[in-house]
Amino acid sequence: MVLFDPAAATAAYLAQLPPEAHAKATAYTQGGHWLLLWGFLVSVLVSFLIVRSGVLVGLRRRMERRKPRPVLVSLAVGVVYLLIDGVLSLPWSAYAGWWRQKQYGLTSQAFGGWLGENAISLAISAVAFGLFLTALYALIRRVPRTWWLWSGGLTAVFITILMVLSPIYIEPIFNHYTPAPAGPVRDQVVAMAKANGIPADKIFVYNGSKQSNAYTANVSGLFGSARVAMSDTMFKQGADLAEVRGVVGHEMGHYAHYHSLWIAGVMSLLAIVSFFLVDRLFAPVCALLGGDTIKGLADPAGLPVLSVILAVLSLLGTPVTNSLIRIAESDADHYSLEHFNEPDGLSKALVKTIEYRAATPSRLEEVLFYDHPAVGARIRRAMDWKAAHPKAE
Ligand SMILES: [Zn+2]
Repeated sequence: MVLFDPAAATAAYLAQLPPEAHAKATAYTQGGHWLLLWGFLVSVLVSFLIVRSGVLVGLRRRMERRKPRPVLVSLAVGVVYLLIDGVLSLPWSAYAGWWRQKQYGLTSQAFGGWLGENAISLAISAVAFGLFLTALYALIRRVPRTWWLWSGGLTAVFITILMVLSPIYIEPIFNHYTPAPAGPVRDQVVAMAKANGIPADKIFVYNGSKQSNAYTANVSGLFGSARVAMSDTMFKQGADLAEVRGVVGHEMGHYAHYHSLWIAGVMSLLAIVSFFLVDRLFAPVCALLGGDTIKGLADPAGLPVLSVILAVLSLLGTPVTNSLIRIAESDADHYSLEHFNEPDGLSKALVKTIEYRAATPSRLEEVLFYDHPAVGARIRRAMDWKAAHPKAE
């Protein structure tokens, strides 16, 4: 009898990609780590330019002459700020979000298509974050000493609303979602959902190949709006049922274990810490950026100052947020194996994600930069599972 060797099986999966492909994936992934730093510098530069231009202070002054309600001032200044920031950051976003993806063969989208979608998402986020910022400034005015504490609740409400609305109103703007067509894949996914108490009526396929060649699926939405969506990239070379079971099982794990709610909860706690630091650091950072005409924290013209502080915190907090998501991803893998027992299906699918997430980073690199566990480790866990849970023949 030949014993199953998980280490050899893992190595065999990784060897399905030639060394050049692994080297390219490593270049893409490690270059991506540097993008965090460059993106941070771009955002600080953009904030600095907006402060020095005085455009937000000018807008606030002009509005104040007409004695409007403070809510209107913060809404207008907030939306204008988000739009200017989006436009000034455009060259960088185009490089990181489109040109670089194109260089690595990870997108087939034309620049015009990317630009159009970028404009739409800028408009949506200007409205959504504009409303969030308006509520935030209302808190700063009403409870100037403890606003940062209340901001945690505000963040939780905001994230929850976005999660509920996203699959209904936002995602359909960018992609076409259709119920998974009748056939073996759909039957399989419906059976999986039913067996695990997951609503089986909302299983969609979307044209993800429009933006990205990545092999991927996701669960989004909350309460009544939750659904499983599979990118059409999963069906490009004909769907492999074991793979679909492995991947969709993973996505169902996110749903069944309420990962999005947990993450929203922790993000809200992190928001409290971040806004507390904003409260303490606003004055010195404002002086550093030369914002002498900004009237303090409650002045919405100080938004770029807020943004610089939050950019520093989010850069420093990257390992924390990544680790949080990585733990949920590990748990979803485990759910898939435990409920659907497709270690080979899952591993086959994981091999296809290596091109955008190198398979064998160092442990430190994984902790700092990876928001999914490294594919090498994920396949190894699946193979260990296989060794421990042989399928009945
Ligand atoms: Zn996942």
